[in-house]
Amino acid sequence: MATINDNYLKLKAGYLFPEIARRVNTFAEANPDAKLIKLGIGDVTEPLPAACRTAIIKAVEEMGDRATFKGYGPEQGYPWLREKIATHDFQSRGCEIEAGEIFISDGSKCDTGNILDIFGKDNKIAVTDPVYPVYVDTNVMAGHTGDADDSGKYEGLVYLPITAENNFTAEIPSEKVDLIYLCFPNNPTGATASKDYLKTWVDYAKANGSVIFFDAAYEAFITNPDLPHSIYEIEGARDCAIEFRSFSKNAGFTGTRCALTVVPKTLTAKASDGSDVELWPLWNRRHCTKFNGVSYIVQRGAEAVYSEEGQGQVKALVNFYLENAKIICDQLTAAGLTVYGGVNAPYVWVKTPNGLSSWDFFDKLLNTANVVGTPGSGFGAAGEGYFRISAFNSRENVDEAMQRITDKFKV
Ligand code: PLP
Repeated sequence: MATINDNYLKLKAGYLFPEIARRVNTFAEANPDAKLIKLGIGDVTEPLPAACRTAIIKAVEEMGDRATFKGYGPEQGYPWLREKIATHDFQSRGCEIEAGEIFISDGSKCDTGNILDIFGKDNKIAVTDPVYPVYVDTNVMAGHTGDADDSGKYEGLVYLPITAENNFTAEIPSEKVDLIYLCFPNNPTGATASKDYLKTWVDYAKANGSVIFFDAAYEAFITNPDLPHSIYEIEGARDCAIEFRSFSKNAGFTGTRCALTVVPKTLTAKASDGSDVELWPLWNRRHCTKFNGVSYIVQRGAEAVYSEEGQGQVKALVNFYLENAKIICDQLTAAGLTVYGGVNAPYVWVKTPNGLSSWDFFDKLLNTANVVGTPGSGFGAAGEGYFRISAFNSRENVDEAMQRITDKFKV
């Protein structure tokens, strides 16, 4: 008789987005004329940059000609893309990352989950609370946790609260942890990390033999010149960190799919016999065995991000969403709400007023302004009392949503 991976039964049945959909549907049935504006989802709305489209179309034509047709490419990605990423995203910022340390993939979601394949079962794992749910669920699937308690916390994980009190930056835990997920600019709080702050984690990881998983999916939204874009801007990070990046949010590739993971060749972890083993060959083996590369067409599209034209267009796209975020921050503040994030990030993290729970605030916003956001408690117990508003939307929707909140929403 076949058996299942029982760990899947521990997963809390995707509660957040189905519950949002249920409440929105109930409201829409009772108020068929209401025009709902959804500012809840982290998906982009604006079209692919022209430079990417042109490159993709050219690549499609090449695939139609026997002389330029491409079959399987290198699993790790084409060298011309890896070189451009290494030079532009890392070396230009003083990071000693080579093209050979960059693995092209079809998404940071997959990479942040798949990375666990090369680590042991007994690592102590730390996540922030609130957190991008993929980090938690993939650890549950891999059998790294016990069951969840009533607040949704899984036994065995170390939760590091991030709240206004600590400026949404987790404190170093008192107990020793082996794997740490850090995400900056942060989803869902929109918080950023200074070099000094990241250095405390790099120092901790080096002192304890830990590995940091650094998710930089939103690095393009950093406008403050003092903030680091990569963990490798911190001295010593090559020896203790893996970084994840994506073309989803800077170049609008959520539906096109292209991302990258950096595994430095100097990074090691312990084998069960106590010896130090390099992680690069393990990830390379994993990647080549379970993945057959991102399509040539898509990689050409991603390469165009680094052309002069592409750079300008990506910057314009990011600025557009950042302007949305500014409008949201300004208008919500004017309406009497306290907001965080939204400056070097596309997410605005709102403190719910008058002690309202995240879900009560959701209902209030839905009923008074017909605006949908995401309850902070859905990202973790410490997200209770907060609410996420996404800047990924058309200007028209953002303006109208904010106007309605200013007009109708009384704190
Ligand atoms: N990491 C974070 C923090 C995210 O918020 C997201 C998407 O919302 C991802 C990774 C997923 O990126 P990708 O589209 O490359 O899978």
